[in-house]
Amino acid sequence: MGAASPVLTSAPVNAFKPHLADVADYPYVKVDARIKLDQNESPEDFPAPLKARALERLAALPWNRYPDLGGEEVRAALARHEGWPEKGIVLSAGSNLLILALCSAANRVLDTAPAFPYYKGGATAAGTPWEAVPLLDGFALPVDALLAKLEAAKPGVLFVPNPHGPTGSLFEPRDLERLATRARETGWVLIVDEAYQAFAGTDYRPLARANPNVGVLRTFSKSWALGGIRAGYLLAAPEVAAVAAALLPPFRIPAHTAAILLTALEQPGYIGPMVERIRAERERLFAALSKHPRWKPYPSGANYLLVRTPDAKAAYDRLLARGILIRRQDHYRGLEGCIRVTVGSPAENDAFLAAARDG
Ligand code: PMP
Repeated sequence: MGAASPVLTSAPVNAFKPHLADVADYPYVKVDARIKLDQNESPEDFPAPLKARALERLAALPWNRYPDLGGEEVRAALARHEGWPEKGIVLSAGSNLLILALCSAANRVLDTAPAFPYYKGGATAAGTPWEAVPLLDGFALPVDALLAKLEAAKPGVLFVPNPHGPTGSLFEPRDLERLATRARETGWVLIVDEAYQAFAGTDYRPLARANPNVGVLRTFSKSWALGGIRAGYLLAAPEVAAVAAALLPPFRIPAHTAAILLTALEQPGYIGPMVERIRAERERLFAALSKHPRWKPYPSGANYLLVRTPDAKAAYDRLLARGILIRRQDHYRGLEGCIRVTVGSPAENDAFLAAARDG
């Protein structure tokens, strides 16, 4: 080993845009634990026979060749799977990248608070003005306040996750329809982020089909059990899709990701029963936590539960001491004392409930 090179503590960089002085990496710190219930992943892995098939497919590809610019074969398979025209589908290495692309394209970004942090993160990175409207009591959508914001002189992109992250709540279809109608009249784009829709059985494709100012964002990371593979997609009007695609670098899906997605899309039958098992476990967790003397779970349409405890730090520490990792949510206004627990396997959920009982 050579001598350690000196560490510069303040690099005199003037090359970057001034708004990036505030930019921060995604707020996540990796912690090792026996039972991992902190990232809303599927507790079950992608089925082994499909893994084998995907690996065969990958081995047969020429690795020296670039893949398609936009994952054309996968887009064609997705078009059939989702019943959506190919021209309106954009694939990327995770829906986070599509959020960033949409934030880069937008005049302004409108969001709810609290909400999935990357709408703000993407807007901050892109230097796009960002604003959030607080959820109402019971985590209801603040429709009237959002409608008022849609009157802004320069339209932008409004992100609404449904099921909502991190609360898990489901919004009233009527409320999203009102936002969609106004978006169409004012030129805004409403993105319904359906990362968790499979766990709720909700579907905003019909709204997006009927209204070109509405797009739907989906991911392979949750209900497809492919969080490690990094793939998400936008279903939108061709004009919206074209802008999002143009803001992502070419070769949006690597060849190995495409091989895996094509395999999954050929045999998607594993998803239904897996999602059913996760939903049943979510209801079991909810029922058990509802009887807790001090903890209060909120109803959820997703693969996680938001739980109010007297002290989120104490709950987190106690669970971690028993080898169970969950996510604190008490840094959000209105979520004081809250933690978020991903629905795990039955054994993991039993361990969580046993530890929660002592909380
Ligand atoms: N939207 C929401 C609401 C999410 O919770 C997540 C992941 N945590 C994403 C988008 C991003 O998903 P991915 O980049 O894995 O597709």
